[in-house]
Amino acid sequence: MIPFKRLAIVSLIASSLLMACSPAETPAPADPVTTQPVVSAEPAAVPAAESEEQLVARAQGIHDRVITLDTHADINTANFTLDNNYTMDLETQVTLPKMIAGGLDVAWFIVYTGQGPLTEEGYAAAYANAIDKFTAIDRLVSEIAPDTIEIAYTSEDVRRIAATGKKVAMIGIENAYPLGTDISKVREFYERGGRYMSLAHNGHSQFADSNTGEASGEWLHNGLSELGRQAVAEMNKWGIIIDVSHPSMEANKQTIELSRAPVMASHSSARALDPTVSRNLWDEELLAIRDNGGIAHAVAFRGYLDSEKHAANRAALLALQTEIATGMGYTLLTPVEVRALDETARATYDAQLAEINAAAAPRIAADVDAVAPPVDVVDFVDHIDYMVNLIGIDHVGISSDFDGGGGIEGWQDASETFNVTLELVRRGYSDEDIAKLWSENLFRVMDDVARIAQEIQAAAGV
Ligand SMILES: [Zn+2]
Repeated sequence: MIPFKRLAIVSLIASSLLMACSPAETPAPADPVTTQPVVSAEPAAVPAAESEEQLVARAQGIHDRVITLDTHADINTANFTLDNNYTMDLETQVTLPKMIAGGLDVAWFIVYTGQGPLTEEGYAAAYANAIDKFTAIDRLVSEIAPDTIEIAYTSEDVRRIAATGKKVAMIGIENAYPLGTDISKVREFYERGGRYMSLAHNGHSQFADSNTGEASGEWLHNGLSELGRQAVAEMNKWGIIIDVSHPSMEANKQTIELSRAPVMASHSSARALDPTVSRNLWDEELLAIRDNGGIAHAVAFRGYLDSEKHAANRAALLALQTEIATGMGYTLLTPVEVRALDETARATYDAQLAEINAAAAPRIAADVDAVAPPVDVVDFVDHIDYMVNLIGIDHVGISSDFDGGGGIEGWQDASETFNVTLELVRRGYSDEDIAKLWSENLFRVMDDVARIAQEIQAAAGV
């Protein structure tokens, strides 16, 4: 499909040969002419050196050795109480048992606030929401499961905690809206453990325009506001990584231009592969992130990876649900119609929907996925490949957006995390590359951001 795929195949062949050949068996160096047909040959040429079983075992070894880190897992504070929490087998995509099963070492839990009105009341409600989430994450690590998971503030913390076998929690802040107009709260959020923060979510904030402005063509600041510029400096000063997932391209360009420290995209994929998705990053933005020493984490979000493929899959599912609903004498409603229901009608509808879905479940493989396949780990790693090819292996990372809309076939929840490593191994990524993608690149960015903050503080006499 794209030239870089050929490179991936070449390196897979090369690494397979290295793995499988003892020195005595090392073939004589092939001349370029005889190598060429191997590259363009069908897969039959590839697995001869390493069996599927050997490849999976090698991938498992890599997965166990590297620190696997997911930069974006949303939370609902109702799941952070003493009687309902992540030590249990909850329906959420991230729980401690699922992290253990999938070998996911580090989860960045998100202090997310949806965009509301830019008023004192709006800011107060947003602040209360943020504090509720900080408190919930603190409860998990200090009261609910202190023996299983510990919070990290630095890359050193992550390495130390992961070495003990415990899981690691970190905190990212999605939307700086809760700061209100009080820039001193940047330091407060740092002290509460936040180590990255985005200046906007969906909808323009007091700091920055959002990517969602593209739909209407309406902008509030044409990038950053004056307050947004101050926030960039303040985040540099205290050592919070600036997250450029969600703000507009113009806001991101201005942010990267201004920032003295590397930035990150905590959960955004490559827009070149699906230009309709304004949540993804254009090549221009990805290159600016590279030049700034930052990192972009591809996100396993179906609609962002391949919106057409995802829409076709949803349409096939809807057709099946509609057929079943009609047979049962029910009527499927649109999301807008569902939201308009009163509580009693909603309960009735939810019960009907549960019946419909139960009847649909055994037919999904044949009647939905076989007709219109779901977006999967292969599609996800296509974005990683694209980003690595464009900006280099040192500037790309991995994220799920679990419990916030993320999840794809093959990486539906934290328990399936190994499948991402397996696909990377299939594409020929080395142990070192995979370690970088999963965490080492982000550790470099975290260290740089912390060091630059110290320099700024020292220069300011703080
Ligand atoms: Zn998001």
